This record gives sequence, structure tokens and C-alpha cells, in this order.
Amino acid sequence: SVEQTNQQTESNVQVFVRIRPPLNEGTNVNEGLVHMVSPNTIVLSGPRTEMFSYDQVGSPDTTQDQMFEWVGVPIVNKCIQGYNGTIFAYGQTGSGKTYTMQGRSSPSSANARHQGVIPRSLKYLFELIEKMQNENPGSQYICRGSYVEIYNEYVYDLLDPLQSHRPIREDIKRGVYVDGVTQEIIGDHHSALKLFQRGVANRHVSETAMNRESSRSHAVFTLTIQSKILRDGTFHVRESKLNMVDLAGSERQRDTKSDNARLKEAANINKSLLCLGGVINALSEIANGTQRHVHYRDSKLTFLLRDSLGGNSVTYIIANIDASPRAYQETLSTLRFAQRAK
Ligand code: ADP
Ligand code: MG
Repeated sequence: SVEQTNQQTESNVQVFVRIRPPLNEGTNVNEGLVHMVSPNTIVLSGPRTEMFSYDQVGSPDTTQDQMFEWVGVPIVNKCIQGYNGTIFAYGQTGSGKTYTMQGRSSPSSANARHQGVIPRSLKYLFELIEKMQNENPGSQYICRGSYVEIYNEYVYDLLDPLQSHRPIREDIKRGVYVDGVTQEIIGDHHSALKLFQRGVANRHVSETAMNRESSRSHAVFTLTIQSKILRDGTFHVRESKLNMVDLAGSERQRDTKSDNARLKEAANINKSLLCLGGVINALSEIANGTQRHVHYRDSKLTFLLRDSLGGNSVTYIIANIDASPRAYQETLSTLRFAQRAK
């Protein structure tokens, strides 16, 4: 029997803010625009002073491990129970999205403390699976990984960089999926990490060789977790998805170059982030009891994630911000985006 755990009941959106440390070492954090007044409230000072509240705010000193404890641990715990989950890193280019999700590139043991939410969650997932199998030796788990990049409203397979873009399709049985995307079985933490790093490397290649600027693309790493658990003499089969998304830079795309292709790209980024905001808003309102139509189809990103966003799923948004005075406008817009998500 396949248990349905993603019926339309309530959605659970949690919003985190992470303030990045100043770019110039020695800069006093207190000279920035953003002041934490409690663990979940910050004040943005500038032309106007505004207060914002979230589920949790990370200061410039918040460690990678702390971020993982806030978002990675609970979402993996949920996904192993059959719920779908998505973590989004939102914010302007340079605000720390990739640092938060991926960490510093090519992590060695020397800088393991810089590992991001994705590698930490992969490690934790397999530790948890081992624990569950020890508790219930009859249980089986199969994990698959895929990694795609959405650029200019096209979906590219980061695990198969030679392929052209892939269509998103939908059917009753499978739900929404990327047709022909590489989905590899990952049996342990090390192969999971290798798969992820392969995608990261290919993202760099496509950036230089194919001009797909990572600041203008969404990177979506997806784990599909299938479990077969023996309980009361019958096998219960469940499948869940865990998506970890490094979004395109949220800065207003100002392309002064009169290049049509660039202008269209810029418009597509603005559109897809706007659409994501709209979907998350609608889900929050539904969770609060309001009837709303959710416009998943308005962008490739929200359509691709449709089955993981509505219903009994967990959505975490990490809004990354820069507290320096020159970032005021973008920081304000990120804080507003994050506030509207609640
Ligand atoms: P984005 O992906 O949003 O464009 P990055 O994650 O690439 O931004 O961050 C820009 C730079 O700042 C990178 O060199 C990154 O390592 C560094 N950085 C960002 N956030 C932190 C942080 N919390 N601690 C240390 N370094 C950080
Ligand atoms: Mg980045």
C-alpha cells in the first residue's frame, strides 16, 4: 500500500534570515544597517527604520552547523517520515546563498566547518537511515539524487551537462517531473556527496562554457527517498522528496545593455522569483484558512516543485542579507519578501 502523506491539508512555511558577515574584515558589524533586537526580530535602519520578525534570525556569527540544526535536521526528520520538504536560499548576489546551501567549494577536512546545509543534510540523512534500520531491520530505504539548473526558464540536467534542456511533464502517477533527468541511486553519504559535487562542478563548467551565470539561475538539488517499512505484518511504502534550492540573485536586474537575450533573461528571473513569492504567499494564506488558488504553472521553478510545496509539506526559506549600507535597497526588498512569506 502506498500511503498518501501529501494530501491538501496544511502547509508549513518557516522563514529564517541570515545576516552575512561584512566583506571587509575588521568592519564593525554594528555599523551595518541591520540590528538584531531579539533572536527573531531585526530592525533595518536607513532612510526609514523598519522592524521585521521571522521564525529565527542568524547573526553574522551564526555557524554553518547552527543553520543546519535550524533547517537541515528538522526537514530531514520530516522527509524520512514521508513528508516532502523544500529549503530555499533567497537573497541578492553575494549575500551568502551558496555559502549557506553548499558551503565553501571543494570542502576538505580542514574547512569542514564551512560545509553548507546540503552536504550536512546528506550526512545526517544516511545516519538517520542507519538508525532506523537498526531499530527496524525489516525496513528498506532507497535514495535517489538529481540536480538541475533552471536558467532563463529552461531546465538543464547538472548531472548530464552534455544534454540540452529537458521538458517538465506531469502525469497522474508520477506527478510533476523533469523528463529524462538523471536520477542516480545513492547508497551512502559518500556517493551522495560525490553526486552533489559533480553537479556543482558542472554548474561551474556551464557558467564559463555556456554562459549560464549562476547568479541568474536556480540550482535545485532533489533527493527522492523511498521507504518500505514492515509494520504490523505489512509493508508500508512511502516516497518523499527533499529539495534544496539555491535561487537566482534577487537583485533587481538592470540590464542597460540593449541586448534582447539579456533583457529576456532578466525579465525571466524577476518573473520566477515573483511567482515563487506569490505561491508561498498563497500557501501561507491557505494554511491560515483562506481559500486561494496557487499559480504553480506561472514559472518553471514553482511548477517543478509543485508536488513538494502544497499539502502536508515543509517549506523553509532562508533569506540571506547583507547589512552594509550600500545594500540597503536589496536588503529591504529581501526582508519584505521574507516577511510576506509568513
Ligand atoms: P551568493 O551565492 O548569494 O551570491 P555567496 O554564498 O557566494 O553569495 O557569498 C559571497 C561570498 O561571501 C563568498 O565568498 C562566501 O564564501 C562568503 N560568505 C557568505 N556568507 C558567509 C558567511 N556567513 N560566513 C563566511 N563567509 C561567507
Ligand atoms: Mg551563489
